[in-house]
Amino acid sequence: MGIVVQKYGGSSVADADAIKRVARRIVEAKKAGNDVVVAVSAMGDTTDDLLDKAHAVSPLPPARELDMLLTAGERISMALVAMAISDLGYSARSFTGSQAGVITDAVHGKAKIIDVTPGRIESAIAEGHIVIVAGFQGVSADTKEITTLGRGGTDTTAVALAAALRADVCEIYTDVDGVFTADPRIVPAARKLDRVTYEEMLELAASGAKVLHLRCVEYARRNDIAIHVRSSFSQLHGTIVAGSIDDSAPEEGTMEQAIIAGVAHDRSEAKITVVGVPDKVGEAARIFEVLAGVGVNIDMVVQNVSAAATGRTDITFTLPRADGQGAMAALARIQDEVGYDKLLFDDRVGKVSLIGAGMRSHPGITANFFSALASAGVNIGMISTSEIRISVIVDEGQIDDAVRAAHTAFDLDADEVEAVVYGGTGR
Ligand code: ADP
Ligand code: ASP
Ligand code: MG
Repeated sequence: MGIVVQKYGGSSVADADAIKRVARRIVEAKKAGNDVVVAVSAMGDTTDDLLDKAHAVSPLPPARELDMLLTAGERISMALVAMAISDLGYSARSFTGSQAGVITDAVHGKAKIIDVTPGRIESAIAEGHIVIVAGFQGVSADTKEITTLGRGGTDTTAVALAAALRADVCEIYTDVDGVFTADPRIVPAARKLDRVTYEEMLELAASGAKVLHLRCVEYARRNDIAIHVRSSFSQLHGTIVAGSIDDSAPEEGTMEQAIIAGVAHDRSEAKITVVGVPDKVGEAARIFEVLAGVGVNIDMVVQNVSAAATGRTDITFTLPRADGQGAMAALARIQDEVGYDKLLFDDRVGKVSLIGAGMRSHPGITANFFSALASAGVNIGMISTSEIRISVIVDEGQIDDAVRAAHTAFDLDADEVEAVVYGGTGR
């Protein structure tokens, strides 16, 4: 008998009927002879609703209290799922992240799991119970405070549980049939991937494909856990996330790799330009030191060629939109010290990325990507690349066109539409 870990996202437990449906699915796995451990997300848009409530009473809620509030969402669904299972004649025990032994660092709002001590889960399994764990939360080893793992963090809870329990299977149930070549909400012709490597999935997740939390993919890769991403609304086999781009090199005679795994987009970025930075050693370092000091993660950076006449240059970078105001305030404090002219803030931008291991060995991918964007009338603001990714910054209003144009240009469109979105608001 093996351990199966399942994760159900917010859209899969959105209301009472959905919770009963999920309970039946969990019981099926138990009836098939498995020990079952389930990580659940908050119902539907509960987390967003709780955030709205917090901001209604305080524009800048204390991080500790925000975490206390947000973890309540997952506590509601864990108890309801356990009740629905018990109604089917099976016994279930729900546990908060802290009770389940999910130990994190002390960073509120984006804590990292550093260990899982699943003693209570193992005892509950040994007593024959189905275990339901509240996702997206843990407890800090240092401060003993309750923490949350960042938006989408229940995926990471599931993988961490699977690793700690040495589970045979880790299934992530969501509102689409797997990982697609693009977000099915904007590309109905997107194709389901049967398999995708950790590296490609990491780039997809980091580039905005929110079907999996970035940390969950990192955790799975580090612990060699295969993830099965599938829909809780259908019985279809989904996508297996496993293996490395180096394992499946075509020259080793294994299955031929697709050149492009998919196109991802991200609407959560903003762009800041520091205009007229004196072109001297150490100025860029000072700017980015200050940003690091306030915890801002920088994505792309461009410094334009300095105009010889002025001896000044402009530095443009992108960052999470949510960090925009903090970054602007931090930079304003060093205006006199650095001696730049002014700051420009633009949050009407988006990022579109093309991802695929085949880029390493196929020339012309960049040319094809950029000409597809040009034909769609999309202007490129900034560019960055990794070994298996090309990303561009475009106007917010052109994101969807850019994604569709790239998807078509790389022959990713399916002949028959198979990309169904079963639920969720996409919020
Ligand atoms: P859950 O609530 O189950 O965690 P999420 O909303 O976090 O679900 O993630 C599922 C959503 O991810 C899908 O509804 C889809 O709109 C979006 N998505 C973005 N990119 C992709 C992709 N490449 N493949 C599948 N889904 C994607
Ligand atoms: N409920 C949290 C969120 O909405 C965590 C999750 O769903 O994974 O981000
Ligand atoms: Mg999610």
